[in-house]
Amino acid sequence: MRTWQWLTVSILVIIFAFFSYIFLQIRSLEVNQITNDLYVIYGLGGNVAVLDTDEGTVIVDSMTLTYQGERIKEKAMALTGKPISLVINTHYHADHTHGNPAFDPGTRVVATKRTLHHLQQTDADYFSGEAAKLMPNETFTDDKEISMGNKTLRLIHPGRGHTDGDLVVLFVEEKTVHMGDLFFFLHYPNIDLEGGGSVANWGDTIERVLGLPFHTVIPGHGIITDRPKLVQYKAFMSQLAEIGERAAAENISLEDTLRTTDLTEDRNYEPLNIIVPLGYTREFVLQRAWEEATGSFELRP
Ligand SMILES: [Zn+2]
Repeated sequence: MRTWQWLTVSILVIIFAFFSYIFLQIRSLEVNQITNDLYVIYGLGGNVAVLDTDEGTVIVDSMTLTYQGERIKEKAMALTGKPISLVINTHYHADHTHGNPAFDPGTRVVATKRTLHHLQQTDADYFSGEAAKLMPNETFTDDKEISMGNKTLRLIHPGRGHTDGDLVVLFVEEKTVHMGDLFFFLHYPNIDLEGGGSVANWGDTIERVLGLPFHTVIPGHGIITDRPKLVQYKAFMSQLAEIGERAAAENISLEDTLRTTDLTEDRNYEPLNIIVPLGYTREFVLQRAWEEATGSFELRP
């Protein structure tokens, strides 16, 4: 072959390898068992919880693609041997909701009223046609208890943080809480100020969750962990809020805020990658704290 032919073949091989890699990443789901009846599934997107109950299988969050939703559905039914009776969305972001259309129309889908509002505002195209049936079809504002035969779920909107509509799920019998994106374990969080999120409120929001009876914690991103790690995360968010508030009170510029050495509760934190870096870095969270405290952002209606 001539040089240009070799070059063409090499480029095609590289492109093929790249897309194969992405496809394998999307396909791969790793299951971890927490208790007899509770599992977490890790993959490309937010962490999914699967609960086996007398009245069917409960899923919390559905990752980023309908295809992943299908894989989650298969995997969950293989784990429990029961159909999916209930899907819960912790908040509106695509990496927690876009698997929803894979579930059967008529499935009960629960979220907060604010989450439904944000989905209608930002994602109406994705949830059109048949997929519209997999939008949240049962909503609440502050809290809701769901009995599923032998299991009890407490769904609580503990306050603003990541958005203004996040819910956490307490699996009462398993003494485990799914935090959604109110908790990125060992990662800097996305802070969706435009979606009503708040650095200033986040610490108090976690404090409310800490009042619940649990010892195991499923974060929205990162591996499962325990109560003391959530306490540490609260200290991080509170410190971040203080830095923002001081900057606003003392007229400290964004540039100087980004250079601060006052943020110390982020030891071992790393930016989150979902194949590519998402931009949730130390600078990003400091910038968001500054923007909120100085009013330099626009809330989405
Ligand atoms: Zn999120």
